[in-house]
Amino acid sequence: RNNQPEKSSSESASVRRDALVNITHDPTCLARTQHLLYRRDPERFQPLPEFDKAWDRYVAMHQSCTQGKNWTQVFLHERNMTVDCNYMIVMEGSGGLGNKLLSLTSAFAYALATDRIVLVESRKHFKDLLCDPFPGSSWYLPEGFPYDNVWGNATRMNVAISKNFTDVDNFVRLSLDHIQTWADGQFFCDHTHNGLAKVRWLAWTSNQYFITRLLMIPRVWERLNPLAKPGQIFTILSHKLLLPNNKLWAHVVRLYFAYLAGSSRRVGVQVRLHGRPNLAEFDPVVYDRILDCLQTNRALPKLREEEDVSDLMSFARNGYEGSTEISVLVTSLQLRYYDEMKDLYVNRPNVNGTVIRFHMVSHLDRQDGSMHQSETAFVEMWLLSFSDVLLISRYSTFGYIPQGIGGIIPSHLNTQTVPPGQENNASSCHPGISTQPCTHFPQKPRCDPGSTGNESHREWMRCHVRECVDHEGGLQLV
Ligand code: GDP
Repeated sequence: RNNQPEKSSSESASVRRDALVNITHDPTCLARTQHLLYRRDPERFQPLPEFDKAWDRYVAMHQSCTQGKNWTQVFLHERNMTVDCNYMIVMEGSGGLGNKLLSLTSAFAYALATDRIVLVESRKHFKDLLCDPFPGSSWYLPEGFPYDNVWGNATRMNVAISKNFTDVDNFVRLSLDHIQTWADGQFFCDHTHNGLAKVRWLAWTSNQYFITRLLMIPRVWERLNPLAKPGQIFTILSHKLLLPNNKLWAHVVRLYFAYLAGSSRRVGVQVRLHGRPNLAEFDPVVYDRILDCLQTNRALPKLREEEDVSDLMSFARNGYEGSTEISVLVTSLQLRYYDEMKDLYVNRPNVNGTVIRFHMVSHLDRQDGSMHQSETAFVEMWLLSFSDVLLISRYSTFGYIPQGIGGIIPSHLNTQTVPPGQENNASSCHPGISTQPCTHFPQKPRCDPGSTGNESHREWMRCHVRECVDHEGGLQLV
């Protein structure tokens, strides 16, 4: 039989498992080490020693800069007295969970590169989803913190720039959404960071993934680049920062064993339609593209018209044990993508006689921004991160999270509409080029001539920054 998924060697898997289980587990965040148990080749997620060193240094700094602090008191009355530490408050940005998690990771990357302590807004979704990442200290501000004051009190970038970052009350706000003012966009110029380095407190809000763009700022690149390979930076950071808390991790693990464990190939499919009046619509054109894509990529076998008696003989002889099995996990707001695919493969024989199981965790029918939806979405993102083959919808930050966490080069499903009659002219999907998320809107501010990097930085950019496959004008690290 051709195209049969390969079983990984169970012997080496059990040696690996023993080694991993022996790692000291932190009971406050079981996902931190346990998620590696469910990955095919956990060794490839080992951070560089430089990253481990920088991380340990940050954790120690976080501990010493946050110990015994009453944040409301500090923020309202003692902000100018925090002389030894610089801080950055991360406000939860707009958009869905994918956007929020990408912004949070970008904010942390910037803080790591500039020795700032990250303090995270706790009154929205993050606190109920994520582990606290630094053992021995917390990155959450208290719920009663005067959050509304943060925006009101912080100096805007246009004012800070006009005053050359002096006499700006030690508190500047960075508004880094996809659309930015000229002054906010100056954040991406190297020289601006001379000024920002003098400011003790920053507030960050964004709905974007900016790590690609941060690495194009020479002085940020100098600090971040030695810590991780360009094609791994989000992956390494996500394994530190985007871990589900124990309650959600328990849900992930139960679903893992119910849906994925034991299959020779795990196929993840994330269906997300953008720019439609009904985000949960069933689009038969997209459905056909999913099938075309999975079959062309040989993630799923093609179907046959006629039953083949030898298939049935082989099932009868070997029973379940002799068949290879593919698990397909479909995530979407809409049930029908899963339902029709499942029916199709149950009702018709496939060319390999492969046993294929289809699963869906939720179909919420509409996007409502609720906590329940974020929890479900986060669980699904994590489950998809265990895929061997991943098909994600173009331009969807939801899909970038499992792509990045799992270190998977996905295929990007074309979900764009085409005029009637031209359905066959559009490609079903595009092969990905990286495991890293796309920066949809890399800002291109005009910077001082002295702001460009040296030749080695330019060479690095030529080698490692590419236009995204799934969004024209976007940039991603390879
Ligand atoms: P993007 O809009 O595609 O970039 O992805 P986001 O994650 O930022 O926003 C979409 C939001 O809609 C998610 O965070 C969920 O709250 C919800 N959503 C969309 N698709 C799904 C899905 O397949 N499963 C679940 N559970 N929620 C979804």
